[in-house]
Amino acid sequence: MKFIADFHTHTVASGHAFSTIQENVRAAKERGLKYVAITEHGPTVPGGPHPYYFGNMRVIPTEMYGVKVLRGVELNIQDTLGTVDLPAETIYNMDIVLAGLHPATGYEGSTIVENTEAIINAIYNPLIDIIVHPDNENYPIDIVAVVKAAKENDTFLEINNSSFANNRPGRKNSYEYCKKIVEEAKRQELMLVLGSDAHFSADVGNFELSLKLIEEVKFPPELILNTSEERIEEFLERRNKKLEKIVIPRY
Ligand SMILES: [Zn+2]
Ligand SMILES: [Zn+2]
Repeated sequence: MKFIADFHTHTVASGHAFSTIQENVRAAKERGLKYVAITEHGPTVPGGPHPYYFGNMRVIPTEMYGVKVLRGVELNIQDTLGTVDLPAETIYNMDIVLAGLHPATGYEGSTIVENTEAIINAIYNPLIDIIVHPDNENYPIDIVAVVKAAKENDTFLEINNSSFANNRPGRKNSYEYCKKIVEEAKRQELMLVLGSDAHFSADVGNFELSLKLIEEVKFPPELILNTSEERIEEFLERRNKKLEKIVIPRY
């Protein structure tokens, strides 16, 4: 299976990652990727960038070293309503929008009902493209309901390679938990997306553990966004058309 895109990477701007945008894009090139998304954490992550940062991402070239660069964000879901930590007018201008639950960012839900409500409300936010690491056992979800909502709303769920890494103590059973999500996605024919969640350039495009999981579940390659330029271009066009119809109130 050949992967040509990484939709989830961080740079020094996130406050706890260690490479620059150029280093990430160069690493993407070396891995043979055609697309890489720069997706810093939203401002509620300790040390995360100020909202101005996201507004100014327009200065980043859309292509570097022959790799298409998507200017994005990884938003923090704040509550069961699916509220996120950047205003709609800022999110609207991003090329790709990720959202997920993170510790120390204000989210206080803990039960399956609360977490499922938070995630599903984020899924129904038309500005959000991808729900990241839904595999976190610290935030258990109703997997069937989340996959169904994602399918109905043309939102992607992510297989997050970093979740499975041994040095990620916060997400101990993510591999097994994610396996259940991938199995359900296969059953409901939901398209999934891979993200390295690289916090260092050497990890950009590293999907080693995700690939193991995909092969174990026998998940169909045609339901993975990262494997086809045609599917990616179709998705980007679809999202932009959807956004054209949205009017963002400006106060
Ligand atoms: Zn995250
Ligand atoms: Zn991340």
